[in-house]
Amino acid sequence: MGSKYCLFPAAQAARSKPRLKVMVIPPIPIAPDIPVDPRSMGSVTAQAPLAKLTTLRVGGSADYLILPKTPQQLLFVLNWGQEKGLPITLLGAGSNLLISDQGLPGLVICTRALRHSEFDPITGQVIAAAGEPWSSLAWKAARQGLKGFEWTIGIPGTVGGAVVMNAGAHGGETADLLIETEVVSPNGAIAILKPEDLGFRYRTSKLQGSNLIVTTATFQLSPGYDPAEIKAATATDLKSRRETQPYHLPNCGSVFRNPPGFDATGQAHSAGRLIQQAGLKGYQIGQAQISTLHANFIVNLGGAKASDVLALIRHTQSVIYHQHGIKLETEVKIIGDFDTGNFEAQSEG
Ligand SMILES: Cc1cc2nc3c(=O)[nH]c(=O)nc-3n(C[C@H](O)[C@H](O)[C@H](O)COP(=O)(O)OP(=O)(O)OC[C@H]3O[C@@H](n4cnc5c(N)ncnc54)[C@H](O)[C@@H]3O)c2cc1C
Repeated sequence: MGSKYCLFPAAQAARSKPRLKVMVIPPIPIAPDIPVDPRSMGSVTAQAPLAKLTTLRVGGSADYLILPKTPQQLLFVLNWGQEKGLPITLLGAGSNLLISDQGLPGLVICTRALRHSEFDPITGQVIAAAGEPWSSLAWKAARQGLKGFEWTIGIPGTVGGAVVMNAGAHGGETADLLIETEVVSPNGAIAILKPEDLGFRYRTSKLQGSNLIVTTATFQLSPGYDPAEIKAATATDLKSRRETQPYHLPNCGSVFRNPPGFDATGQAHSAGRLIQQAGLKGYQIGQAQISTLHANFIVNLGGAKASDVLALIRHTQSVIYHQHGIKLETEVKIIGDFDTGNFEAQSEG
C-alpha cells in the first residue's frame, strides 16, 4: 500500500529485519526516564464492571480497566501495569468470553477504542488496528471492490480478537487472509509476526495464552471486483446468520468447538447438532438457556450469572459425553475464578 499504517513507528523498522519468533522478542524499554502520568494513559477506572463489555453481558468487575485510544496510551498503561506487577488481561469486543462473576484481578485492557483501517483498492491490501470491528471491514472492503472479507460479516469481534482466535465462517478463516500482524509484549517490545509464526489452527493460534498484544494486522484481499457483487454476497451471509443465530439476545457465539470425526451417517461432527439431538435446546439453568434457535449458542435471558452459564456448559458436556463418549471442548474463553477453580489455567482451547 502507498502509506503503510502502523501503530508503532519502531515496528516499521522491524519489518526490514529478519522475522521474529513468538516469545523471542528483544525488549525495547518504554521511555524509562518519563514518569508515568495517569493522564497519558487515558482514564483508568478502578472496580470497573465488565459485563457491559461482553456480548454475553455477564461477569464481575476488573480491579483496573482502561480503553486506550492511542498506541502511546497503550504503551504507558503497559508500563504502569508492569511497574505495579499487575496481571494483564486483554479484551477486544468481549464476544468470545465468559468472565467469572468474581471479575478479573489486575489490569484489563480493552482495545476497542484503537480504531483505524486503510484499504488499497489496487493491491487489495488492508491494514487495520486491533480495535477495529471485524465485521465493519466487510462493508468497507465491499465498497472498494475487494473480495475476501464477506464471511466476516456478523462476527461481532475486533481485528485483534479475530487474529488471536483465528475467527472464521463459511469455510473462510483469518489465517487465509493475514499477511502479518504487529504485536507488543507487556514490557513494550514490538514485533512483526507472519502467519507461519502464529501456529493457526481451528479457532486458535499461538497468541492465545501468550502475553502478546495484537496492535495491527495486515490482510490480503482480491482487488478488482464489482462492489455491487461483493455487497450482495455480504448481505446474503448476514441474512443467513440473522435467520439461524440468536442475535436478538446476549450470547458469546458458538460455545463449543466442533469435535473431530464423523457420525454414523458419515457427516462431520457438529457440536450444535449433537446438542440438538440430545434434546437440550431450550434447557435452562438460572437465566442462561441453550438457544432455541441454535443449539451451540447459550443466551442470557436477562440477569444470568456467569456461574449459570458455566453450569449449563458442564451439564451439556456431561450429557454429550454420556450419550456419545465425546468430550465437547469450549470455544468460548472462560476466564477468572469460578468456584470450581481458575479456568484460565485450565483453558480447553
Ligand atoms: C453472535 C456471535 C456470532 C459469532 N460468530 C462467529 C463466527 O462465525 N466465527 C467465529 O470465529 N467466531 C464467532 N463468534 C465469536 C467471536 O466473535 C470471535 O471469536 C471473535 O474473533 C472474538 O473477538 P473479540 O474482539 O470479541 O475477542 P474477545 O472475546 O474480547 O477475546 C477473545 C480472546 O482474544 C484475546 N484478545 C482480544 N483482543 C486481543 C488483542 N488485541 N491482543 C491479544 N489478545 C487479544 C482475549 O484476551 C481473549 O483470549 C461469534 C460471537 C457472537 C457473539
